[in-house]
Amino acid sequence: MFDEKSEDWKYTLDGKTCFDAQSAFAINRKQNMHGREINDKLLSYLNTCKREILMEIPLRLDDGSLLPVHAYRVQHNNARGPFKGGIRYHDKVNLQEVREMANLMTWKTALVDIPYGGAKGGVAIDPKKLSFHEVRRLTKALVSHLGNNIGPHIDIPAPDVNTNPQIMAWIFDEFSKTHSEGSPLAVVTGKPIEVGGSQGRLEATGRGVAICYREACKYKGLDPKELRVSVQGFGNVGYHAAEIIQKELGSKIIGVSNAVSAIYNEEGLDVVALKEYADSHNDSLDGYPGGESIPRDDLLMLDCEVLVPAALSKAVNADVAKNAKSLKVLLEAANAPTTPEANAILHEKGVCIIPSVLANAGGVIVSYFEWVQNLQQFYWTYERVIEELEARMVRAFGDVINLAKEKDIGLRQAAYCLSLDRVAKALILRGY
Ligand code: NAD
Repeated sequence: MFDEKSEDWKYTLDGKTCFDAQSAFAINRKQNMHGREINDKLLSYLNTCKREILMEIPLRLDDGSLLPVHAYRVQHNNARGPFKGGIRYHDKVNLQEVREMANLMTWKTALVDIPYGGAKGGVAIDPKKLSFHEVRRLTKALVSHLGNNIGPHIDIPAPDVNTNPQIMAWIFDEFSKTHSEGSPLAVVTGKPIEVGGSQGRLEATGRGVAICYREACKYKGLDPKELRVSVQGFGNVGYHAAEIIQKELGSKIIGVSNAVSAIYNEEGLDVVALKEYADSHNDSLDGYPGGESIPRDDLLMLDCEVLVPAALSKAVNADVAKNAKSLKVLLEAANAPTTPEANAILHEKGVCIIPSVLANAGGVIVSYFEWVQNLQQFYWTYERVIEELEARMVRAFGDVINLAKEKDIGLRQAAYCLSLDRVAKALILRGY
């Protein structure tokens, strides 16, 4: 739905502003970047999800009782290739969030120029409250509910918050029982290496974040060795990003938080030792000898040059943005972690914001490599995966910087303008 009266051409989805796409669409219209073909009707189509699957999955608990679990798979767009996007297990998952994330995936896959569309899945449950066998039964039931709506050339799920390679292996296993023809391995990415996974997939998103950081430092004339970094979220993305930024780029990681606690050391934390500590202390960072404990959300208020939100969306709000004094680079490792208000404040302060569609695209790029390897049954070395990932991330980063300079717009807007152009062209060529 478009509010034509608004000067900023406010773009809304179910009454909620879809901020990222909105800003790009507004720029697109003001600058008339793509001629007349990208018109209101096309944009309206692009903000409507192609298919939304709503499920209630009866989960048999270990004690024999039944728990109904709500689950969603939203397929936003497949103009450039099969739907692609992670599956999240989280008790706060809801349909609107899944729609927004599916939408984001379309722009992300287009931005890094891989032949996919966008989708996302969510299961409204906290898997930490379930046993191993309950999570397995839930995952297998999800796959049977999804039926033919997923497949190697239809829709290819991947890990996201609280889902991991083990869960991806269960997805493949359940799917392969009813789909033995073709390449059932390619139905899902992020699998363990022993079950068709790719070298380098586990750390791919974090590595992509680190590559963006390195490129942003070059662009802004900053020396990473002189910068202090705070990381919110110490899971797959946050941990690997922090580890590579510390080890390969030499920045100091001064603060780390997770859902349980946060830790701070102005002299720098040893990220690998901290991870080992968290793993052996039920995820708690409290009591880690190499730093001092701070309240979890104070992490976002630490004085630092680089902030890496790598947990959930909307973490960087107006209060965080107003408080930022030394911040130079915001690396959006999580999906959509910055509110529109915070974005405006940080933009005013001259902070270089690397939008999530670019910053965390490393995961879906290596997912694409995994899919290609599964289809060809020919597996790459770790070195080849990293080399190809580097090339794609650096190219996408360069494309965004060049457009931002040329049009005098922010990196977020440039990223969305590029993606929009690619998706719209594919739709038009296909006869939309
Ligand atoms: P994960 O489940 O492995 O880790 C999430 C981390 O965030 C955990 O350490 C958790 O404790 C922490 N956390 C949760 N709530 C928190 C809070 N309020 N404060 C501080 N920490 C909190 O998930 P992940 O795969 O690392 O994903 C993190 C983000 O990156 C998500 O937004 C996800 O959509 C995005 N992402 C992930 C991938 C991927 O390949 N895994 C790819 C692209 C984007």
